[in-house]
Amino acid sequence: MFSYRHAFHAGNHADVLKHTVLIAILRHLLQKDTALTVFDTHAGAGLYRLDGEYAETSGEAGHGFLKLLAHLSAPPALGKKSSAVAKSMAESGLAPVIQDYLDLVASFNSKGSHKVYPGSPFLIQRLLGERDKLKVFEIHPTDAKTLSANIAQLEAGRQVAVLREDGFEGIKKFLPPPARRALVLSDPSYEIKNDYARVVAMVADSLTRFATGTYAVWYPIIPRPEAHDVPRKLKTLATKSGKKWLNATLTVKSSKLTSDDAGEVVRPGLPASGMFIINPPHTLKASLQLALPQLAEVLGQDQNASFSVESGG
Ligand code: SAM
Repeated sequence: MFSYRHAFHAGNHADVLKHTVLIAILRHLLQKDTALTVFDTHAGAGLYRLDGEYAETSGEAGHGFLKLLAHLSAPPALGKKSSAVAKSMAESGLAPVIQDYLDLVASFNSKGSHKVYPGSPFLIQRLLGERDKLKVFEIHPTDAKTLSANIAQLEAGRQVAVLREDGFEGIKKFLPPPARRALVLSDPSYEIKNDYARVVAMVADSLTRFATGTYAVWYPIIPRPEAHDVPRKLKTLATKSGKKWLNATLTVKSSKLTSDDAGEVVRPGLPASGMFIINPPHTLKASLQLALPQLAEVLGQDQNASFSVESGG
């Protein structure tokens, strides 16, 4: 059975990247008059407590969302050695897409409190209009139950459907969507090695059913060949299909193993991740070129902190 629980990871640096990009994509797609259907193939529990047992055990939000907030309330004093990005942030403030992300998360909390962290289904639903639809898939029995209960509280009726089934397979029956406009977010836990191949196969199959949809895939950047294969294979797929693509990555630390004072090997945890988008909004690249240097500056944990925004097609 699956042991991955997103509650341990909610608000970490990977969520900051993923949710900032997700919101930026949605803002653009929702400007049009025609209804949009959003699919979240790996939805999680929907809402998380940052003061709860899971989040406090891992402390991951402290290196992600909470670190961004702390930077806002107490930016470091600038010195001679401050980077150009730090100086420009001090002068011009946060990039609009980061500010948008922080404001949206804040809207789930009472003023000044940061106890609740919304997962992708809630961030998406908050932005949708009445005509738009959201279909979310979650296979973990406990998280699927929590997600259903959380979504029920929204009283969103038929706008949101929670499907307790495999998202890779389940999406097939919905493509193409009725109004022929859709965003597919795929955010697997990659707990099962096969997920790396399945996410690429899902996008390949989806493109044959619905070539004009926007597809956004989150992937970890870790020293495993199958993880490196995800952006490489998606790029090949997009290029062969004649589609535009964008690949955004955020690295916060080295991926090297270290050792502690007792000589025990210390694993670095997740050092970096990426979002690969097929058929991205034309505005996305410029928005991320402004935002990612700032995320790397604030969330970077060592001299390996970096980012990239690459596009093609
Ligand atoms: N997208 C969520 C967010 O940003 O808030 C986080 C999702 S978490 C990284 C991945 C989730 O996928 C887990 O809750 C896991 O139980 C679920 N999962 C794993 N395999 C799945 C599958 N084949 N279909 C649907 N859900 C799956």
